Amino acid sequence: MQYLLFCAAVLLPQNLAFPTSAKLEPDMENAKVYLDKFFPHFSKTNILSLEERIEEMQRYFHLTVTGRLDVETKDFMKQPRCGLPDIGHDRTFSGNRRWEKTHLTYRIVNYTPDLPRHKVDDVIRRAFMVWSDVTPLRFQKISNRYADIEIQFARRDHGDGNPFDGRGQVLAHAYLPGPGIGGDAHFDEDELWSEYNREVNLFLVAAHEFGHSLGLLHSNVRGALMYPTYSYVNPATFRLSQDDKRRIQQLYGKKSQNS
Ligand SMILES: [Zn+2]
Ligand SMILES: [Zn+2]
Repeated sequence: MQYLLFCAAVLLPQNLAFPTSAKLEPDMENAKVYLDKFFPHFSKTNILSLEERIEEMQRYFHLTVTGRLDVETKDFMKQPRCGLPDIGHDRTFSGNRRWEKTHLTYRIVNYTPDLPRHKVDDVIRRAFMVWSDVTPLRFQKISNRYADIEIQFARRDHGDGNPFDGRGQVLAHAYLPGPGIGGDAHFDEDELWSEYNREVNLFLVAAHEFGHSLGLLHSNVRGALMYPTYSYVNPATFRLSQDDKRRIQQLYGKKSQNS
C-alpha cells in the first residue's frame, strides 16, 4: 500500500502546489495545468512565476526561450504524450530504480478491441525486444499469475489514482520498477491503437512505456525513444537511439555475446 501511494506521488506530484491568485487567461491556465502535471516543482522556497516556469520548460526541450506562450510552445504542449512528468523525479528518487533480476515476466491483463489479439501479442513482444536486444534482460509472457509487468488498457479512472484523459494528450503511463504496481504499464483505451501510422502506433508507445517499467525516466534528447511526446517513426525500421541505449545499459549492462 505504501508503494502505491509512492507511485501516485511520482505521477501526480503536488497539483496544488501553486494556488492561483489571479484569474489567468485560458491559454495561460492551460499552460499552468500542463506545467503542474509534467513540470512539477517541489521547492517551497523558490516559487517561480509562470513565465519563469515556461522558460524552464523551453530550455529543457531546446525550444526558443521566450518565457511566453508562443506558437512553438503552445504546439509543443498540444502534442500527444506520455503521462509521466518530465522533471521533478530527482527529489522523489534517490539513485536509480531498477530490477535486481534479469528475467522478468509480463502479462497482458486485457486487450484493446482496436487490434486483433495476436497482433497485440506480437507488438508487445517486439516492444520488449527493443530493450532485450541491448541488455541481458529477458522477458517471458505469462497468463496465469501476477507478472512483474502487468499490461492493461483502461479508460478514465482505472483504480490507480491517475485517471486517463479521454482521446488525445496523455496516451499511456507506466510505473518504475518495484513490487505491486511497480513496472506496470497502462494504455489509454480512449486512443485508437494501431500498428501503422494511423492514430497512435501501439509499438512505439509500448516500447517507450516499457522503458519506464525498466527504470528509465524521460529524455530531452530529440529522437530518443524516451522523449516524452509521441512522434511516428516506422516500427519496421525503428532503431533505439544512442541516448536510450546508453541509459538502459547504465542500469543493466550490455548484452553478453552468447545470451
Ligand atoms: Zn514516458
Ligand atoms: Zn494507470
